[in-house]
Amino acid sequence: MERTTCCVVGGGPAGMVLGLLLARAGVEVTVLEKHGDFLRDFRGDTVHPSTLRLLDDLGLADRFAALPQRHVHSIQLPIGRGGELFTVGEIGSLPGKYNYVAMVPQWDLLDLLADEAKREPTFQLRMNTEVTSFLMERGRVTGVRYRDRTNGSTGELRATLTVACDGRGSLARDLPELGLQEFACPMDVWWFRLPREESDPRGLVGNAGERFLTAMIDRGDYWQCAALIPKGADATCRAEGLDRFLAAFTEATPWMRQRPDRAPGPRSWDEVKLLDVRMDRLRRWHRPGLLCVGDAAHAMSPVFGIGINLAVEDAVAAARHLARPLREGTVGLADVRAVQRRRWPTTVATQGLQRIAHARVIGPLLQGRSPVAGGEPLRLAEVLTKAPWLKRAPAYFLAYGAGRERPPAESLRRSG
Ligand SMILES: Cc1cc2nc3c(=O)[nH]c(=O)nc-3n(C[C@H](O)[C@H](O)[C@H](O)COP(=O)(O)OP(=O)(O)OC[C@H]3O[C@@H](n4cnc5c(N)ncnc54)[C@H](O)[C@@H]3O)c2cc1C
Repeated sequence: MERTTCCVVGGGPAGMVLGLLLARAGVEVTVLEKHGDFLRDFRGDTVHPSTLRLLDDLGLADRFAALPQRHVHSIQLPIGRGGELFTVGEIGSLPGKYNYVAMVPQWDLLDLLADEAKREPTFQLRMNTEVTSFLMERGRVTGVRYRDRTNGSTGELRATLTVACDGRGSLARDLPELGLQEFACPMDVWWFRLPREESDPRGLVGNAGERFLTAMIDRGDYWQCAALIPKGADATCRAEGLDRFLAAFTEATPWMRQRPDRAPGPRSWDEVKLLDVRMDRLRRWHRPGLLCVGDAAHAMSPVFGIGINLAVEDAVAAARHLARPLREGTVGLADVRAVQRRRWPTTVATQGLQRIAHARVIGPLLQGRSPVAGGEPLRLAEVLTKAPWLKRAPAYFLAYGAGRERPPAESLRRSG
């Protein structure tokens, strides 16, 4: 029978950070990831100041800085079809050296974390290993059943604690006692690539067009593009034709019209992937032997590009509360409860802000209505511009959440 102290299901941002922190703190930890690598395009690229500071605390600042990246100093929402942008958070106005969002392909970040974690003797990462169900004994989760996707073999891994970091489709969501609460989202996302030219803008670029919004992530020689479409409108929008969509996209992106050569876009709908946007959270993130963190506990909307950082912060809080009791063999329900208590206010507040953005800005724009008609976003923008100290509050919240999460002392290392 295979056994570990902590079984982490899923090697996304939450799972890899938790694995690294626990292993450095001397806990035996096994991360099971169903894919064979981290190369998945749909993942966002935003690494916020809280994560940058964490990487520094972990002695990884130099290795992270060596990754190809762009820096973004403010988070903006498009509020008008003329391309007007409303600055939600002027992160550049915050003190400290990490007053920007680093745009780094997520697979580079995950590779770095995995590489670092593998140096720890108590860490194991098993790729191509899909967890298929939880092992239960007298109402307690005692580990997982898994399937090796390379050869189809199956097995069981017993664990003192299992942490579900398997994203918004988490197996834990089948446990009815955890209580899933869902919130309406007005949009889905089309995800595709366009070539990037040196004369193009840099970083993260948002725009508003006729009935859809766009966000473009600068990945060096190409743009990873997101077009927001009304929820459930994928089939109708595709039926209108790819050329019409690409023309509307260019229309919504004024600087693209000025390019000498029209960039070749996707040549077929197969190159335009649909991402189903969901926002929800579990009422309870735990049961005996099990804890859920990251998107498994709360799927985030892509608004503000903050889901990765919340997942990372959850993992840091979990490592801080759990490292010692896991090492000493005393981990109990009170420890996993403490993690939810700690992370709940930031989760609820962030989803609250995302719901406001859905209702006041994105929903109206996707329905062809101007969100500035009622004047509220503009009035708010006016107040924020007049009071610079007020500008810092949303910037701080987007950068760090409701409070700083500190990793366990044993996980810290000096940079360099
Ligand atoms: C369209 C869209 C765009 C987004 N853009 C951004 C953005 O720009 N910035 C941002 O911060 N956030 C963004 N988000 C949100 C962000 O992707 C998530 O909040 C974040 O990735 C959550 O991290 P996680 O580790 O909790 O889960 P995930 O990143 O979902 O990782 C879960 C991992 O578990 C693995 N897994 C799943 N099931 C199993 C299983 N049964 N067995 C083993 N492994 C399993 C998966 O392969 C995956 O590697 C976006 C979300 C959407 C929908």
